[in-house]
Amino acid sequence: MIKQARFLISNTDVKKCPAPDRPEYAFIGRSNVGKSSLINMLVGQNGLAKVSVRPGKTQLINHFIIDESWYLVDLPGYGYAKISISVKEKFQKLISNYILNRENLYCLFVLIDVRHAPQQIDVEFITWLGENQVPFAIIFTKADKLGKVSLAKNVGAYTQELKKLWEELPSILVSSSLDGTGRDEIISFIENVNKS
Ligand code: GDP
Repeated sequence: MIKQARFLISNTDVKKCPAPDRPEYAFIGRSNVGKSSLINMLVGQNGLAKVSVRPGKTQLINHFIIDESWYLVDLPGYGYAKISISVKEKFQKLISNYILNRENLYCLFVLIDVRHAPQQIDVEFITWLGENQVPFAIIFTKADKLGKVSLAKNVGAYTQELKKLWEELPSILVSSSLDGTGRDEIISFIENVNKS
């Protein structure tokens, strides 16, 4: 259970992030994947992370402190088409700088919309994480949009795709911000990593 979540700082500079004095968990994914909704659902506070009105709005590293014991980070969404190459490159630099240099990043949650077949941009990103030995887990979002059978089928198809690349699969979680699916599992996952 999360008792308290508080916004700390938004910035575009890794150096301006809070001192790396607590475990940190960051959330990333394609724009519109349901990242803000998931963060709000996890902390039980609607409106903590803004739910997007237009894709690609969040271009900042947003830090929140949870129960005074760990940091939750909302990273900019990637993969939307409507921005220029130069802005895209700036984003990529910001994100990769953060991911590769943030020493207290215990786990990066990569969000994937469970309705879709594996998309190149996500697979490439996951591959890059693996190559750079970034600790990460996958959270499939919007589980409520599929029935049980399709959900299992899609998660299975994705895992098969990842198995082509990796001998060992990352941790995989399933969520729905609409009905709270995955909330306890994600929080337990974080608590367990914090303990280890
Ligand atoms: P972000 O751009 O990744 O932060 O995505 P948002 O959280 O803003 O969500 C994008 C859209 O998907 C919004 O219209 C949300 O209401 C919807 N959405 C997000 N999560 C879920 C979910 O778990 N289930 C359903 N059915 N819709 C969702």
